Amino acid sequence: MDDNTILKVNDLSTHYFTSRGAVKALDDASFELKGGQSMGIAGESGCGKSTLAFSLMRMVQPPGKIVKGSIDIRGLEVTDLSEKEARKKLRWQKISMVFQGAMDIMTPVYTVGYQMMEPLKYLKNIKGDEAKDICFKYLDMVNIDYELFYRYPHELSGGQKQRIVIATALLLDPDVVILDEPTTALDVVVEARIMNDLKLLKKKLNNSMIFITHDLSILAEISDKLAVMYAGYIVELGDAIEIYKNPKHPYTRKLIGAIPRLHVDVDRLEYIPGAPPELTNPPKGCRFHPRCDQAFDRCSQDEPGFHEVDGVKVMCHLYDRGA
Ligand code: SF4
Repeated sequence: MDDNTILKVNDLSTHYFTSRGAVKALDDASFELKGGQSMGIAGESGCGKSTLAFSLMRMVQPPGKIVKGSIDIRGLEVTDLSEKEARKKLRWQKISMVFQGAMDIMTPVYTVGYQMMEPLKYLKNIKGDEAKDICFKYLDMVNIDYELFYRYPHELSGGQKQRIVIATALLLDPDVVILDEPTTALDVVVEARIMNDLKLLKKKLNNSMIFITHDLSILAEISDKLAVMYAGYIVELGDAIEIYKNPKHPYTRKLIGAIPRLHVDVDRLEYIPGAPPELTNPPKGCRFHPRCDQAFDRCSQDEPGFHEVDGVKVMCHLYDRGA
């Protein structure tokens, strides 16, 4: 791991053990992130994005279990930690997460300030004016007036609450911050402003950020790297702009083709027929083959490996030598 590598994930697999069999929600995920770098994770619902995020946070609950692989955050091996160690050493300090629907996460009976100061008090024993100063510093970074520190959540707009939750996730200066659909419930103007602020924050703080969203166009704008997931696998991984402009995996092409663009005149947007597979019994060969319009014989027989094309890793038989 070079000096500036913050996160290294190797062969990570997480399965859920149900009465119907093991749900293979995440298989063989591998990637690295450096300081100041961000990665977007894209894919349909149920393709493993949130399972990957929960695995990094060590928050996968039974019947789920990390069955294989490693997660290294600046020398801390996350998969070896007990739950007690994960609480004390990992969450908030090494990695934090802004959850989906985070703006509804605040307790209505406590002020913003009370809730923001809790992680400082319990994990660092920082209280009083010192804690308040740290909160103010991060509120300022997300463009929130200090005065809101004394208000109750019901007195704030959705955008304000979202910014406060982001500031709270940054309080202990974690190496990695995961933002799961950070702007989904907001209008497009607020969304654009928050995304722009996050872009600036990433540069300023030099931590790694992971964005999860269905909207590939946002990811291309805000992320350095992009991981496209399908049925538990990362099927395309590389530079975000390169993937957005020149997608190589048939699934990524379809996802990008489904984005409405004002400046492109199309009669019909692309769509992907069918639905993602049942992960207790994924299709043999390439998991995307029943929905892929470029599938050929081999696709239903052999699982594809990764191929490097223009610096991007692609899991697809189309790039096998001689295919
Ligand atoms: Fe399509 Fe075959 Fe590539 Fe899978 S391996 S994405 S089925 S062409």
